Amino acid sequence: MKMTDVLSKAETPVLSLEITPPDRGRSVDELFSAIEGLMDFTPKFISVTYHQPHTVYEEVDGIIRRRPKRKKPGTVGISAAIKNRYGVTTIPHLICGGFDRFETEDALIDLHYLGMKNILALRGDPAPGHTRFVAEKDGHRYASELVTQISAMNRGEYIDELDNAVSTDFCIGVAGYPEKHSEAPNLDKDLFFLKKKVDAGADFIITQMFFSFDSFRRFVEKARETGITVPIIPGIKPVTNRRQIEQIPRLFFATMPQELVQAVEGAKTASEAFNGGTRYMAKLFRQLLNFGVPGIHLFIQEKSDDSRALLSAVYGS
Ligand code: FAD
Repeated sequence: MKMTDVLSKAETPVLSLEITPPDRGRSVDELFSAIEGLMDFTPKFISVTYHQPHTVYEEVDGIIRRRPKRKKPGTVGISAAIKNRYGVTTIPHLICGGFDRFETEDALIDLHYLGMKNILALRGDPAPGHTRFVAEKDGHRYASELVTQISAMNRGEYIDELDNAVSTDFCIGVAGYPEKHSEAPNLDKDLFFLKKKVDAGADFIITQMFFSFDSFRRFVEKARETGITVPIIPGIKPVTNRRQIEQIPRLFFATMPQELVQAVEGAKTASEAFNGGTRYMAKLFRQLLNFGVPGIHLFIQEKSDDSRALLSAVYGS
């Protein structure tokens, strides 16, 4: 089912989850247990992140060789497995990084054959170890270009002209940044490019995590002023420990309000910090529901006890 169809029919905001494939060589069972721990909250969608490989150099018989190494493979396999196992619609993420547009076309054909109806189209982070995103030769530099390619395939237009080519039928999501993307000079400029993604065919927006309701409200208001009319789904991450307070601003460029920092760092024990962070995030969650969001996208980890505590605080367990 397409995200936009579900959102337009839903009478209450729709819950979706975002998961990350395990590291290469690790079992997927822990991830499945995390999902199972949240199934009684009836998530309607589970999105699965995609990770571009980094380059490693190794010496073989005295010759230095370059090879790509992907830390977290398995996005498409996990997306298909979840769909079969739980009957929940999956949204594989597809990135520009590491793909040329011919490989992107092949990936889209695979996803179409697998019956995927939704894709989250992203540029992708810079490759591990790099600070700047570098597109492949013949690859896309921005997510809007990827959206343009998917939209063309939805019209039956492939890179080479083909007779009677089958049209794909993807509902396309893109990323939005309530506190602006880290590389954008300001929010207005970032929204200008977000509008470009929507004009290229994006049907919905999922936001980066944020921790202040006001930053989300301002973002939605400005997006609407810019002429963006598609659903905007806030992305939320539970925060329950000190490590996250240090890491999240660095990794995701998200500001932590003092009230949240105090709730976690001012706690005397780990369990007090867990409860303080959960209380703060539950308040933010309720503010978003009252604001009338179409859904909430929860970034979950391999252990979902923090997400479960948050959802229980909001919906009751
Ligand atoms: P874009 O929309 O292309 O924007 C990137 C930057 O370029 C922005 O600063 C924008 O303002 C600017 N820009 C856009 N178009 C133009 C243009 N034409 N000219 C000049 N500047 C332009 N990363 C992954 O690697 N894998 C994932 O699975 C993944 N999942 C994510 C899920 C969500 C919900 C979110 C919010 C992010 C996710 N990311 C993921 C991170 C994302 O890939 C990075 O934030 C990346 O740096 C930007 O991706 P984007 O699609 O927003 O890029």
